[in-house]
Amino acid sequence: MLPYFGEAIRNLFKKPATERFPGSAAPKAAECYRGRLSYDPTKCVNCGMCIRVCAPQCMTRTIREIDGETQEITFTFDMTSCTFCGMCADFCSQHSIVMTDDYMMVSSDPKDFLVTGSFQKKKPAAPKFTPEQLAAMKAAAEAKKKAAAEKQEEKV
Ligand code: SF4
Ligand code: SF4
Repeated sequence: MLPYFGEAIRNLFKKPATERFPGSAAPKAAECYRGRLSYDPTKCVNCGMCIRVCAPQCMTRTIREIDGETQEITFTFDMTSCTFCGMCADFCSQHSIVMTDDYMMVSSDPKDFLVTGSFQKKKPAAPKFTPEQLAAMKAAAEAKKKAAAEKQEEKV
């Protein structure tokens, strides 16, 4: 009992082990903390890798036609679905996505949890063949392959 009493008395004169908040500057997050992500659309090449690796699928990509040649691409990351795993940042070869140390995500407005950015790029060239033409070409190639295999079997 007595040792604990001594410890209690000593603690009365010690500085608090915790940081006061609110009331002072927000304490810094620990090193490598994964908080709200940031997205830099100027570096993005629209490869779509971040979308493929995001398990909760919390990002959306919208494409808007500006004129016949240009389109505007917008990426939106919804922090309310994000698990802060950091996979999107790890797989982004352009470093457009960075996990910041911002943990101050408190709001009653869902829009405050969206991270978004847009960029413009030239529209991709129209495909040379229609889906029907591609299907016909595939069927012809498969028929040719099958005929060659049958011919080979006949020889044996
Ligand atoms: S992985 Fe990076 S470069 Fe690719 S679409 Fe996502 S943000 Fe853009
Ligand atoms: S940190 Fe993880 S959950 Fe959040 S957007 Fe990136 S891949 Fe998705």
